[in-house]
Amino acid sequence: MSLRLRLTLLYTILLGGVLLLFGGLVYGLVNLVLVNQVDRTLAAASDDLIGRLRINAYNQFDPRSLTNFQMTDNLLFQVWGADGELQIVRPPTITDPLDQKSLLAGELAYSTVTIDDLHLRVITVPLQSILGPAGIVQVAINLSILDTTRQTLGTVLLTLAVLAMVIGGLAAWLMITRAMAPLAKATEVATQITKADDLSRRIPVPQPAGDEVGRLITAFNQTLARMENLFDAQRRFLADVSHELRTPLTVIKGNVGLMRKMKSMDEESLSSIETEVDRLTRMVGDLLALEQAESGRLPLEKNPVEIDTVLLEVFQQMRVVATDKQIKVAEIDQVQVMGDHDRLKQVLLNLVANAIQYTPAGGVVTLGLARVQDKARITVTDTGSGIPAEDLPHIFERFYRAEKSRTRNPGSGFGLGLSIAYWIAQLHGGTIEVTSSEGKGSTFTVWLPAIPAPTLLPEPDSDEENISDV
Ligand code: ADP
Repeated sequence: MSLRLRLTLLYTILLGGVLLLFGGLVYGLVNLVLVNQVDRTLAAASDDLIGRLRINAYNQFDPRSLTNFQMTDNLLFQVWGADGELQIVRPPTITDPLDQKSLLAGELAYSTVTIDDLHLRVITVPLQSILGPAGIVQVAINLSILDTTRQTLGTVLLTLAVLAMVIGGLAAWLMITRAMAPLAKATEVATQITKADDLSRRIPVPQPAGDEVGRLITAFNQTLARMENLFDAQRRFLADVSHELRTPLTVIKGNVGLMRKMKSMDEESLSSIETEVDRLTRMVGDLLALEQAESGRLPLEKNPVEIDTVLLEVFQQMRVVATDKQIKVAEIDQVQVMGDHDRLKQVLLNLVANAIQYTPAGGVVTLGLARVQDKARITVTDTGSGIPAEDLPHIFERFYRAEKSRTRNPGSGFGLGLSIAYWIAQLHGGTIEVTSSEGKGSTFTVWLPAIPAPTLLPEPDSDEENISDV
């Protein structure tokens, strides 16, 4: 059963229940008022009757005393003597007691009875004379009008309830159908996306977008966008890895083949193989580090690290590599951060290696470290190629490489270096920012929470001053 049908049924049943309860209450209340009215009429009629009754010399009720007694058509009465004999009756056709039980009980009572297809409400009133019990009067009223009224009321209430249920059910069906239309559309599009394997499609967000369905579809679209990104990254990763693997493997195979042919160890071939194996090892290491960093399983030490020392280590190390470029340190404060020395060094190495790699010969790479309030700010600035604006938002994504760097530097990294740096900075509670201008160069800025610098105590006062103070 569809949700739409279930909701409609539930609503209709609830509506029906409420209407029936309400109708029952109205019916019961009206019935009570009507019966009360009837009882009051009966009481008044019996009072009138009893007030006129006279007992003759034979201790019997005198029918003549009721000659002027006018009763409405739907009233009946019987006057029973103390001896249990029916003495006066109207209409004369009904000679059986109007209510046998109450007559025998001989007490004031109201009852509802059926005699000869007549539905009657009866009042039984015992009579007393100075000589003791004088008999019993029973006055009855025909309930046919009341029954008709009750039946009409019941029918009207039931018809209205059924009508309201039908109209309510239809309205509920239409409203639920309308409310669920965007969901139906969403299901259709989601099915098409699955069938066509096309994650670039999005589900149209219904207006107003802020309601529950709108929010659900927006969230679903965001999930789709994220999945699309992930799949793209994965696809790119596979393409990159297979591309990167092919070259070193071809080189290794070629050199091994060459040595086999020459039947001797060729030093050049061996070092070529070694370079390629190093490269492959680096790639596997990078992948492993990234995977661990992303899943928060990267083992990190938490020690005070002198970032200025790390920066100088990186400077010394990279100066040797970048022979055709100038590397300099512009400013360097003494700043300590809490963290893992080797990982923080890896961040700087990745940034400086990139700066060197993407800067042409003769360019300048400038390093800097400053304490800015409670943070360490490390900057790596180059005068290199810069990063195209369209690549800038993506360079920290795993496996992302700007289109240019792919073709220009086939021997460069795998697009993992910045992702790793980003994650290490994150795990240290820091961030990395980048500004770049194409053709002019880039600046990468790493912000890390710094350990507060020891506050300098004021110089102790001289003895003389101490004395004069006292
Ligand atoms: P790679 O191993 O390709 O250098 P990274 O993750 O370190 O991977 O960098 C991602 C991409 O960002 C690079 O492919 C390059 O296009 C761009 N990039 C990073 N640093 C620089 C820089 N200093 N100058 C220009 N482009 C850069």
